[in-house]
Amino acid sequence: MKRIDIKKLIKPNIRNLRAYYNAKEIPCRVKLDANESPYGFEINDKILKSIKTNRYPDPEAKNLKKIIAKNLRLNPENILFGNGSDELIYYLITVFDGPVLYPVPTFSMYGIISQALGEKTIEIPLDNDFDLNMEKILTAIKKQKPKLIFLSSPNNPTGNCFSADRILKIVEFTSSLVTCHLSLVVVDEAYQPFSSEKGFLPMLSDYKNLVILRTLSKIGFAGLRVGFMIADREIINEVNKVRLPFNLNSLSQAVAAALIKNPNTIKLHIGLITSERERLLNELWKIRGIKPYPSEANFILFKVKNSDKIYYRLLKKGVLVRNMKGVVNGCLRVTVGTKKENNIFIKALKEVMK
Ligand code: PMP
Repeated sequence: MKRIDIKKLIKPNIRNLRAYYNAKEIPCRVKLDANESPYGFEINDKILKSIKTNRYPDPEAKNLKKIIAKNLRLNPENILFGNGSDELIYYLITVFDGPVLYPVPTFSMYGIISQALGEKTIEIPLDNDFDLNMEKILTAIKKQKPKLIFLSSPNNPTGNCFSADRILKIVEFTSSLVTCHLSLVVVDEAYQPFSSEKGFLPMLSDYKNLVILRTLSKIGFAGLRVGFMIADREIINEVNKVRLPFNLNSLSQAVAAALIKNPNTIKLHIGLITSERERLLNELWKIRGIKPYPSEANFILFKVKNSDKIYYRLLKKGVLVRNMKGVVNGCLRVTVGTKKENNIFIKALKEVMK
């Protein structure tokens, strides 16, 4: 084969892009790196038999939409599905353009997708409490006029919710009536089910520039890839124009619809995860040399000297956590697992810290 440099054909913004972290291939005994739920669901034959493999899926996922709308007391017209909320982040940036503003550290896909689409990013460091730095954010909004603002609350990877009044101030500030500057504010509530705060769904009817992202990934359905955005109908209609026609496959639609009809088991799992989170936090506090940060999500960020070394030593013992190198230096992030998994993690951590 002739030697050709394919890189020359690649757009410069893609050439410099790095693929999203993918740890699927790292062998381990306990997998606590991806903020998944430790509790899965069984799919029975009745659900499987309802799927017609030769037919395209319902492009609107109407049945699933109806169930989610009922569970969250929303109008189905205000919901749009994505193949995971990642896909909706892609669509939002495609439709609304940049610059795209977000605080850092935060979920990496806001930056990766912006770069993939060639949009300018504005990264504003969080303050010392991992909360929004309002002075810097408001100045950046005034000067650089972002079209889109992403706020992950609870924030991945820090685990805290941003102050609700700060988020609201940003929403108000960018609603053009105040400043003549309009931005869409996307509050990404991927981890809201684990939080003691009520989230921003109740504010939706007050602010047209507010969009909320939710996902089923963290509550036991990561393999199905079902995310959804909730917004004003006009926004939903615009984003729907770029949505790929059958982005939610038949299997995901049918399984999700059947399994979330009865939310009691999901609620039970969430309760188990949040109580384990508090136990894990207490255990982490007791280990010398570890500084855990409080969390409203299904994971805990913790600071440790020699984070690289600790990460690899944990892995050697079969425990996979996330090394936050380059994102929050000196920190590791552990997903809350089952009681048994958490015990294995704590025991391994105590040993490697000795
Ligand atoms: N938002 C945040 C803050 C996340 O942490 C994640 C998953 N890591 C997502 C969105 C994407 O979730 P999904 O699986 O729905 O694409």
